Amino acid sequence: MPALDFAFTPWTDVEARLTRPTVAVLPLGAVEQHGAHLPLTVDADLALGVARAIADPLDALLLPAMPYGDAWNNAAYPGTLSLSPATLRAAITDIGKGLQEMGVSSLILLNGHFGNHEPMLLAARDLAGGGLPCLHLDYPGLAELAEKHCDSTPAAPHFYHADEVETSMMLALRPDAVRMADAAPSYPTFPATFGAEPMQLRSFNPSGVFGDPRPATANKGRAFIEGIAANAAPIIAAFLHRHGIAVIEP
Ligand SMILES: [Zn+2]
Repeated sequence: MPALDFAFTPWTDVEARLTRPTVAVLPLGAVEQHGAHLPLTVDADLALGVARAIADPLDALLLPAMPYGDAWNNAAYPGTLSLSPATLRAAITDIGKGLQEMGVSSLILLNGHFGNHEPMLLAARDLAGGGLPCLHLDYPGLAELAEKHCDSTPAAPHFYHADEVETSMMLALRPDAVRMADAAPSYPTFPATFGAEPMQLRSFNPSGVFGDPRPATANKGRAFIEGIAANAAPIIAAFLHRHGIAVIEP
């Protein structure tokens, strides 16, 4: 059974689904610059695509992606719009509480944007403390997948932004929104204090691209999405087992 995608689902289907143990998957995105060749919604688009690949084998509730996130360090590029960490934490916690009240047995948070990481952890802690088992995932094993599938090198270790990885995933999910003619490489010199002080990325990167998006293809994008979902599967299985949650196939 594929996931119950809220974008196509009336409430009556949710009520019927909740008669057996049900997992929900919440993708977390951002409204943030992704260079001159990608739209501002990339992180939500990609998180939703990966969340679908994760939710389908679980017959889970696939929630709409949280469109906004904490994108503070991209604020100097027009179009970027941020939630504060406290607002994001509260929003995730509120959604989780609503799921718990409707009878969902556990929640998987699937994060597609680096800046959401800490608010996501804190929201998961809030929810777990309130009795809702909550798993928080960034893209598991992405560095190894990038190493395996990319023809370009990342701009920095574990840093994938508007590059071959994200552009490939967008070509797989929303090719109509990608302007490959405008894709251009950018390997900025990172300031020595990067990661050690708050810093606007535009202060050392005029284009907003980190890496080289030009070798991106939809096939690589599909390999990333399937690879991330495959890496997530054993973590999710262990999480459900640990909490005694049996996902029963209909
Ligand atoms: Zn991104």
